[in-house]
Amino acid sequence: MARVLVVITPAEGHVNPSLGLVKQLMDNGEEVVYVCTEEYRARIEQTGAELRTYPFPEDAFSHDPVLKPAEYKHPYQFVYMMVGGIIRKIVPEVLRVTENETFDYLIFDSLMGWGGTIIAEKLGIPAVCSIASFAFVEPLGADQGLDENRKDVKELYEATMKLTRQLANEFQVGTPVMDEIARHAGRLKLVYTSRYFQPQAEKLDDSFIFAGPSIVPRQDAPSFPFEQLCGRHQQTVYIAMGTILNKDLDFYKLCFDAFEDLPVTFVLSSGKSTDMTPLKDRIPANFIVKPYVPQLEMLQHADAFITHAGMNSTSEALYYNVPLVMIPLTSDQPLVAKRVEELGAGIALDKHNLTPAALRAALAEVLSNPAYKQQAYVIGESLRQAGGYKRAADAITNYFATINR
Ligand code: UDP
Repeated sequence: MARVLVVITPAEGHVNPSLGLVKQLMDNGEEVVYVCTEEYRARIEQTGAELRTYPFPEDAFSHDPVLKPAEYKHPYQFVYMMVGGIIRKIVPEVLRVTENETFDYLIFDSLMGWGGTIIAEKLGIPAVCSIASFAFVEPLGADQGLDENRKDVKELYEATMKLTRQLANEFQVGTPVMDEIARHAGRLKLVYTSRYFQPQAEKLDDSFIFAGPSIVPRQDAPSFPFEQLCGRHQQTVYIAMGTILNKDLDFYKLCFDAFEDLPVTFVLSSGKSTDMTPLKDRIPANFIVKPYVPQLEMLQHADAFITHAGMNSTSEALYYNVPLVMIPLTSDQPLVAKRVEELGAGIALDKHNLTPAALRAALAEVLSNPAYKQQAYVIGESLRQAGGYKRAADAITNYFATINR
């Protein structure tokens, strides 16, 4: 039996996929200490893991100026976010709450990048990287590089490297080059998708385990009046823009304008901390609006899903064969939407040119052309066949059992 340290960035899209894995590791006989924030206590403790918390503002990814996802003009912005927003803040906390303890191996969130390597090195243990999106095939930003003509990129590069040198000095570890900060390090890299869905998967070696999405029942999910979906209209469409950038009332209004006279039931997840008061008299009769929806169950009732193409939401929809209309907002979402479109399971729309007519036309196409659902099924099948958290946990347990034998 090994003692495992799990460190995941406190964001729903990163914590959720790790839960099945942790539960299965415990079922395999491992002992798990999970470092995260108070916000995720209930769902982490449900796995049986022991939680260690550190102070971190709740919902930080919606508010913190460094962490809040922007529309990246260059991938180095993302690297800066990792170093300045995550590594600098979380690594010292993790080292503090695990001081004087021993572990056999570390599982860390890929969003921590080089931060995971620091923790592993300081604790003297091997690591596994948990990748909640597509795996990076090339170093982040390598395609665009350091364009000497772009002052903003040069400044960003210098600010990132300055902070990296400071942190390396503080933690007494070597300084990585830019390309290594976001690189997936670790003996194994666990990706919660299938090789089929991952772009350029042929370039990734066998240290990448493609286990598919981690779909586990969520005991803390709120209830939902599913009986209201019966008999209203034949078709149901689910709309949700994830848990971070979900406060755009103009978008919700645009959905109302686009769909209010369709004979379809719409379920809209408006966000736990979104104030919908300005729209309260504007909600059409064919809409059910809730701040948070039990998404896994909802998707099993949905004929289509209008989404920001967050990796988790997209994978969950495809897992249940639901075709997509996607309005990617930031981070990896454009990449995820592009891949879904490439494989024919949905239509991506440009958020800058979004109109009720364009949204309505895209949804009509996805609902009426069976090819989208068929392709959602093809990807869904690859995700279901990937083995899930059980395969992931078994691969990790067996790997460390073998090397320690
Ligand atoms: N989610 C949910 N109910 C909601 C909204 C979101 O259960 O009403 C869950 C969803 O199932 C997914 C996660 O929150 O697992 C959102 O992750 P994603 O990567 O799609 O987007 P992010 O929140 O990171 O932008």
